[in-house]
Amino acid sequence: MNVLVINAGSSSLKYQLMDPQTGAVAAKGLCERIGIDGRLTHKVRGNKVVKDIPMPTHSEAITAVLDILVDPEHGVIHSTDEIDAVGHRVLHGGMKFSASCIIDDACIQAIEDCIPLGPLHNPANLMGIRACQAVMPTKPQVAVFDTAFHMTMPPKAYRYAIPKSYYENDDIRRYGFHGTSHKYITRRAIELMGRSDIKIINCHLGNGSSLSAVKDGKCQDTSMGLSPLAGVCMGTRSGDIDPTVCQFIMNKYGISVDEMLNILNKKSGVLALSGVSSDFRDIEDAAAQGNEDAILALDKFAYEVRKYVGAYAAALGGCDCLVFTAGVGENGPDTRAKICEGLEYMGVKLDPEKNKVRGEEVRISADDSKVQVWVIPTNEELMIAQDTMELVNAAK
Ligand code: AMP
Repeated sequence: MNVLVINAGSSSLKYQLMDPQTGAVAAKGLCERIGIDGRLTHKVRGNKVVKDIPMPTHSEAITAVLDILVDPEHGVIHSTDEIDAVGHRVLHGGMKFSASCIIDDACIQAIEDCIPLGPLHNPANLMGIRACQAVMPTKPQVAVFDTAFHMTMPPKAYRYAIPKSYYENDDIRRYGFHGTSHKYITRRAIELMGRSDIKIINCHLGNGSSLSAVKDGKCQDTSMGLSPLAGVCMGTRSGDIDPTVCQFIMNKYGISVDEMLNILNKKSGVLALSGVSSDFRDIEDAAAQGNEDAILALDKFAYEVRKYVGAYAAALGGCDCLVFTAGVGENGPDTRAKICEGLEYMGVKLDPEKNKVRGEEVRISADDSKVQVWVIPTNEELMIAQDTMELVNAAK
């Protein structure tokens, strides 16, 4: 089966054509500057092709993707008939989606209804869906939500301690994000551990970072909230913060709510702490040269992740497996070691040699560690393709 996986942003669109059974990626790429001018970067058989193609809307971007997929020189299929289905990443499924769904009119309406919860991403995701419907009207399409995996959380984890009417009337609650990644690494951890009745703490640490507490394969808690701003400090996001800090800054400097949120989303996190960069590699380089702010940024990031791990071990009543994934989780041995420092009391013991791994699926805990610690490279596209295949096959 060939599934075209689409991740549409407001002016960009990422794609992968893959086989959900083997995980083999035939081709992938990115459309950028949609609505401005348009550029396609296509990767196939180890080569990169860049083409400037006018893309006034997402429809032209999808058409450009289909054209290059069937192109005699750079393509991988003879005809678009060889694409069996399309899987779309959608950011916010609100309370309406606890699983992926086949896209029909009701599904589109429900994604639209979630726009107030995901005002930046859901409209862009819908543009990708509508463009595919216009260009491939008969192709089955599936929506895979970033929030869905977390919908098994109990009310004590997802409710905020604010007046109930905001929950009842406005759906204000914790949702959590990176759900497709958390779902993928949970599945892999269960396969690697050989049993599903385990307590897993997942650390998705990238430019955006989130943790999840998982029991028997089901999410019990997660660090992001109504939006991806909550939880540990991140590349440019503050993570959890006392709202009074915002009130103080806004009053003193005459800053609007939108400006304040922009500061918290784009100008905070390890970027603000280090004063160097949001990229962990740059911060590690600066720290190695003795930059005190960079050292603090790395210390604070590891400290916050460690605090969440401790909290989730308490919430789950133990931990059998600790998983690291995403850019920093997969490629940052020093950060992983720093996070695990001080977790010995709960049975976490790293093997320093194995912890040198970058970007590979490896158990990095010592043989006598009570908690198994794993690096599991995430694969959100594969998860989207597999959900798409399962739903499309079930509907046949
Ligand atoms: P992601 O959002 O998952 O793409 O992760 C991006 C983050 O991963 C950036 O902060 C990168 O600095 C970090 N990252 C990627 N590769 C490495 C590496 N080799 N060592 C340390 N951090 C890395």
